[in-house]
Amino acid sequence: MLEPERDIHMDSFTNHQLQLIIAQLDQAIYTHEQWYKNLLRILIAHLPPEEADLMPDAHQRCRFGQWYLGPQATFIQKNPAFNSLGDAHEQMHSNARILLQRISDGMTIPVTDWDNFDNTLDRMRLEIQALRHEFSEIARNRDPLTEAQTRASLLPELREQHALVKRGRQACALAMFDLDHFKRINDEYGHAAGDAVLVSTVKCVKSYLRPYDRIYRYGGEEFIICMPSTTIDQASHVAERMRSAIADQHVQSDKACDELQVTASFGVTAFSQSQTVQESLGRVDNAMYEAKSTGRNCVVVDV
Ligand code: GH3
Ligand code: MG
Ligand code: MG
Repeated sequence: MLEPERDIHMDSFTNHQLQLIIAQLDQAIYTHEQWYKNLLRILIAHLPPEEADLMPDAHQRCRFGQWYLGPQATFIQKNPAFNSLGDAHEQMHSNARILLQRISDGMTIPVTDWDNFDNTLDRMRLEIQALRHEFSEIARNRDPLTEAQTRASLLPELREQHALVKRGRQACALAMFDLDHFKRINDEYGHAAGDAVLVSTVKCVKSYLRPYDRIYRYGGEEFIICMPSTTIDQASHVAERMRSAIADQHVQSDKACDELQVTASFGVTAFSQSQTVQESLGRVDNAMYEAKSTGRNCVVVDV
């Protein structure tokens, strides 16, 4: 249950990959609109249809279809919305084929055939816009340095998880960690070295997260991890593994000849039906401060 399955989760994309995916989706939208403009031209002026558009596999022959099936799209092929987009695209082509066949047979187009095509066209547009929106929202809420989620997305997402806990649908645990004596790293090795430690630490922690776990940058060197469907006991084990992995890091930085080491203090709590999100945040914060005051580099579980 705690093994990483990162390949199917949006959080596993780097900021750079997210930008590439969004650019690809924009390009795909553009090529599809070009195809559509050409289709209208053919239908309105009664021009001979493109051979490829009359084929049963027209959806695989257009430029959009080639992108969809091609290696560039492999990043997002596991996203469920990607499959719906493919279905919508295929149906749209099959309806377009009916229109084009009519034109090439010298017949007029019944309004129901046009409406069928138009509906599937709308569906395809909605699907691709939804996919783009999903990726751009993830990118918008990413911290550019550490690639953790930003604090702006923390409360709304915690509230969603908390609502499920309130309805008795799931357990949900929270962990908070803060790097120990982090100021010393900046003071001794410079800010760039401190940045490298932050980047490395988030990468390290992410490798312990499951698909629906999220890490948020709460403040400078302070992070919150939300673990849905996780009990407080399970979360305390995960936090202990993360704490140990953070302490085992040897971070290289251009600015420092030494390999940098850092530790972190963790607090762990679980959402409860009787406490608000803010109260749970207060409790995890208290647990983390207790970890600081009891010597740092440890995990304190809220009881
Ligand atoms: P403690 O163990 O009590 O947490 O000590 P600390 O030194 O980690 O705590 P303190 O709050 O005094 O220092 C946190 C430091 O984190 C100060 C700040 O300059 C640094 N910091 C915050 N954000 C960034 C960042 O993005 N990059 C770097 N390099 N440093 C940062
Ligand atoms: Mg600190
Ligand atoms: Mg701090």
